[in-house]
Amino acid sequence: MKGKIVSWKDDKGFGFITPEGKSEQVFFHISSVKKAARKPEVGDVVIFEAAKDSQGRLKATHVLLEGVSLANPSTSKRIVTKPVTKDALDYFAYFILVALLVVSLGLFIRTGAPESSLVPGTIFLVVLFFSLNRKKQPENKLFSCSKCRAVSSHDERTVLAWNRGFNRLYCKACHQAWLREQPKDGLK
Ligand SMILES: [Zn+2]
Repeated sequence: MKGKIVSWKDDKGFGFITPEGKSEQVFFHISSVKKAARKPEVGDVVIFEAAKDSQGRLKATHVLLEGVSLANPSTSKRIVTKPVTKDALDYFAYFILVALLVVSLGLFIRTGAPESSLVPGTIFLVVLFFSLNRKKQPENKLFSCSKCRAVSSHDERTVLAWNRGFNRLYCKACHQAWLREQPKDGLK
């Protein structure tokens, strides 16, 4: 779940989170905050799990501060997104593509007319288009930014980059900083 810290008592080590789109407040204790490089602050966006405590009240567990790197960045305290792997559907698509190619070529050789390959050729392009545009979702919704190591949740941009085989993913802030560094067209 995603939410925002709405109150935080630093001296007592607890606070409250309001889940996105809800008005209720969920209690959280410092012990449930994963080793972040700094303490929670009001306004922090968090990703958390919630569970009922012994008295039936909702309590946040496994709280991660978004945009804050994990403690000990020099060690392996990073959330790495496993690379995209090919699944059965991919191999099935490759098989179909090869088969269609063989059929198209066979028809062309047998008839000598290119238009005889039109139907299998068209299906070939459609299958190719879908297999190239198929999007998968990373197993873990979170990742550590490759630049600033801040914990971030995947969004459309990072999922797309990941699907294209990029294993270095950047948080929104780093991405926007990078965009600003790019020369703007037509502004001279
Ligand atoms: Zn970053």
